[in-house]
Amino acid sequence: MSLNNVINCPRCGKIFIKIRQPVCPECVKEIDKEYDKCYQFLRKKENRGCTTYELSKGTGVSVNQITRFILEGRLSIENAPNMGYPCESCGTMIRSGKVCDSCLNQRKKAIQSLQGEARRDMEQRDRERKGHLYRSGHDEQ
Ligand SMILES: [Zn+2]
Ligand SMILES: [Zn+2]
Repeated sequence: MSLNNVINCPRCGKIFIKIRQPVCPECVKEIDKEYDKCYQFLRKKENRGCTTYELSKGTGVSVNQITRFILEGRLSIENAPNMGYPCESCGTMIRSGKVCDSCLNQRKKAIQSLQGEARRDMEQRDRERKGHLYRSGHDEQ
C-alpha cells in the first residue's frame, strides 16, 4: 500500500484508502442511496417528463450528483425526454457529450486558431533560420 492511496474524500473530507472508488466507503453508500432515490423517482410514470431540477427537488439529490450519474451511465435519460445535465462550460442543458454544441464549436475554433498560430510561428522561425543561414553564408565569403 502506498501513501498515494491515502487521500481525503472529495465528498466529505474524511481520510480513507483509495482502492477503486474515488470517494470513501461511507460516501459510496450515501451515493448509492441517492442513486436509488433518483431511480425510484424516475420509475414512477408521473415523473417520466420531469427535468433534472425537478428530479433534484423531488429527491434532494444535487444536480451535480445527478449529472455524475448520467455521465457515468448509471442513470439513463433515454426515457426521460426533459432530463439533461449542464454543459461543462456554459451550463446549458444538454443530453450528450460534455459540452453543448455552441461550446463545442467554440472549442473547435479555438483549437484551429491555436493550430494556425503554431503553424505561423513555425513558418516564421523557418524563415528566420533560412535568412540566418543565407546571411552566415555571405559572411563566410
Ligand atoms: Zn466521504
Ligand atoms: Zn455550453
